[in-house]
This record gives sequence, C-alpha cells and structure tokens, in this order.
Amino acid sequence: MSKTHGDVWQRCLEYIRMNINPNSFKTWFEPIKAISLNEKSLTIQVPNQFFFEWLEENYVTLLKKTIKRELGPGAKLEYQIVVENHKDTMNGIQQFTQKEEYSASDIKNPFVIPGIKSAKIEPQLNETYRIENFIEGDCNKLARSAGKAISKNPGKTAFNPLVIYGDVGLGKTHLANAIGNSALEEFPNLSVLYVTTERFTNQIVDSIKKNELSELTQFYQGIDLLIVDDIQFLSGRTKTQEIFFNIFNQLHQSGKQIVMTSDKPPKMLEGIQVRLISRFKWGLSADLQEPEFETRLAILASKLEEGIDFPKEVKEYICYNVSQNVRELEGVIVSLIAQSTLNNKVISLELAQSVIDNYVTSTEAQLTVDNIKKLVAEHFSLPIEKLQSKTRKREIVIARQLSMYLAKNHTKDSLKQIGANFGGRDHSTVIYSCKTVKDLMDTDLLFRDTVQELERKVQMQLNRGKIVV
Ligand code: ADP
Ligand code: MG
Repeated sequence: MSKTHGDVWQRCLEYIRMNINPNSFKTWFEPIKAISLNEKSLTIQVPNQFFFEWLEENYVTLLKKTIKRELGPGAKLEYQIVVENHKDTMNGIQQFTQKEEYSASDIKNPFVIPGIKSAKIEPQLNETYRIENFIEGDCNKLARSAGKAISKNPGKTAFNPLVIYGDVGLGKTHLANAIGNSALEEFPNLSVLYVTTERFTNQIVDSIKKNELSELTQFYQGIDLLIVDDIQFLSGRTKTQEIFFNIFNQLHQSGKQIVMTSDKPPKMLEGIQVRLISRFKWGLSADLQEPEFETRLAILASKLEEGIDFPKEVKEYICYNVSQNVRELEGVIVSLIAQSTLNNKVISLELAQSVIDNYVTSTEAQLTVDNIKKLVAEHFSLPIEKLQSKTRKREIVIARQLSMYLAKNHTKDSLKQIGANFGGRDHSTVIYSCKTVKDLMDTDLLFRDTVQELERKVQMQLNRGKIVV
C-alpha cells in the first residue's frame, strides 16, 4: 500500500514532538500542513516567509533527519508558502507570491473626531528605542525576529497579535517601541500608537466622564499598529477589558497589527476575561529571557557612549555580577561613570566592585553553575574539568549528575544552559540526571546525606550574599 502525504507527515510530527519542547512544537510545527507526496519528495505548507526562514534556520537538522527516517535516503522536503487571507477566510488561502505589497497610501486617517480631522496622530514612541540597538541574543531571538518581521509587514504576518513577555527590565518596552519605530521608518504614513495599559485605562475613565467613549473607541479603531505595554495591568479592570476587547476585534478583523507586552505569558494572566486571553493567543507569544553572559557584554558595550570604554576585566566583572536585569546593568554603568568623573577616579575593578555592592540588591546574589561545579569538585576532591568530561567512571558520573541537580535547583539557568555547561550535553541529560539523583536519595541513605551536606554548603554561599569566584 502506498503512503499518503498525511500519514508520512503525521509520523514525522510524532518524531519531532518527541525531540523538541512542547511550546516550540506548538508554535512551529502544528501550523504546518502536508500538501503532497511525490515519491521521495514531501511538500509542506507554511504560513509565511518568516516561518519558513525560522524553520530553516533553527530546525533544518531535525527536519532533515525526520524526513530521511520516513522516506529513506534521498528524501526531500519542499515548502509552499501561503498566507491566510484574513478578510476572506471562506476562500481559504492565497499564494504568498501573489500578495500585494503593503502600501502606505492605503492607510486611512484614523481621526474621526470633528475638528481635528486631518491631523496625523502622534505615535508616542520613545525614539531612542530601536531594533538596531536592541542587542540580539538567544534570550530574545524569537521576539526580536518576529518584531522585525512585523515592522516590515504590519498586520500581514502570522504574528497578530504579538505578545512579548518577560520579567522586569529585560527589554519589553524597548522592543515594543522599536517595532513601532521601524514600522514608521518603513511606512512613514502608517498610524502607529504606543500606549501603556495605565494610560489607556485613564483615557477610558476620562472619556466616560466626558461622554466621549465612542470617539475614543473610533480613534483606536483607526490605528494601523497598536502597541499596548504591560497588559498585565488590565487585570481586574472589567470595563477597560470590555472596551479593549472591542477595539482588538475591530483591528484584528481589518488586518491591523497589535503588539502587546506582559510580565507573564498570556495563559498565566489572572483577572482577565477568558475570551480576551484566548485572543491574545491567536498570534505569537514570545518571551524575553535573561541575557546570557556574552549578550550582557554586548549590551554593555552598546550602552557605552562613544569615546568611553571600561577595561575588559571591569566589563566582565559587571556582566558576571549583574545578570538578571538589563536596567540594573545600565544603572551600574551610569553610576560607575558618575563615580569616576565626580571623584576623579579611574575606572578600576575596585571601583566597579563598590558600585555594584551599593547598587545591586541582595536578591541579585545568586549561584552560578560554575560556583556549583567548584563546590562539588572540592567536596569530592576532583578536578573541575572532570565534571564536564566524557568519562563514564561511576564516581565522576555521580558527581556530575549531582552538580546538574544542584544547578537545576539553585540557579536560574535553563536546562539547556546547564547541559551546555557540562561539556555540551543536552537538556534531556539534565532531566535524566536530576531524576537519578532523586531516585538515589530515596534508596541510598548515605547518598542522601551527601546531597544534604552539599545543599548546606550551597546555602552558606548564598547567605554570604555576594559570591566571589
Ligand atoms: P521592561 O519593559 O521589560 O521592564 P525595558 O524595555 O524598560 O524593560 O528595558 C530596560 C532597559 O534595558 C532599557 O533601557 C533597555 O534599553 C535595556 N535593554 C533591555 N534589553 C536590551 C537589549 N537586548 N539590548 C539593548 N538594551 C536592552
Ligand atoms: Mg516596560
């Protein structure tokens, strides 16, 4: 019996699902449709160009392996890029190549308020926040690329809405503004508006008082790219949510772009109507994580004004110690420059230390995987390098697994980062190690004592506040 494209792709999906995390699977693989199978060539359909590029850039190895597994050597994967046609969903799809160029002249004037009919709206963007000075790293790659794609094609990508989420100080407001600025560069007549949820709420309250709510809604419905910052503050505000719901629907239906930021992923937002949350999930939710050490260094370099530089060890010291918040990183840079100018001191490691001690809150003190490796290596009298080596000697394997277990519980690093820190192992090895340690603790009392002893040492280091390596 001959295979159909549907069966083949289904089996590919099962294999892919086992090999990547559920979120990535949902974002990048669920939307794919299999179109046809011609001997060894399977054609799949993806929603847009960006999607295709993302798959090619990030999943090409996995895709190749999967398709070969199903169709044998010489297997080929072809892509067909189509975009959903929002306006005419009955008619299904439309070829990407036939898509007309985005034309700025199509954009209608958003103002319907009498008297200011022809005014151009003030986008309220912070112009210093640009895509170019938003440093790229693994921590923000998806959000940044999606943002870039949107600014080239507002309302016409699959990322509508785009929700950028992440902890405080990781660049949500920067990136959101950057998208607006880039879009305006590309399409100067586009009506773009940046608004914080706080301000949006106040506008609603005001307009209700003045009996101008319908004007306000109409104004919002005329915007082409609406950026709403910090939507977690919609929580508990029923009236604001209701009005936002209507604006959102209107904009989305007419193919206008919505970008939002939040301190949590949409599904974790509390006090917000389910119907609104489900709409937030229509497009793409992309997170901003803490930047990796190298990215922090690059951000630091980008924040130094021309003509100012710090010695290498000072830069590294700062980036090592300020890891969780880019705003704090900037704060340290500014204080350091101020301290050195005001007191006429050279920028030295010592000065950096004192600035950081004063600046960085004690919660910033945290262990790194390296601290943990050192601790474990000392405890077992092993050279640190052994922990990342390939050796399968039992006592080293155990020490390595224990280090991963401690790293998982006491650092903020992701499983992937932890694995990478142990000689390039992958996240599944870390999961396996943690499980082994837990199992051993249940069965071996001596081993449990060892783990507890190490936990005590970890705690001592943390209590000391600042960790010096
Ligand atoms: P959030 O809105 O997530 O709290 P912000 O957007 O206000 O964070 O970012 C805090 C500061 O950190 C800003 O000054 C911003 O320019 C800077 N920043 C954050 N991430 C980056 C990055 N990747 N590249 C350059 N600057 C960044
Ligand atoms: Mg912000």
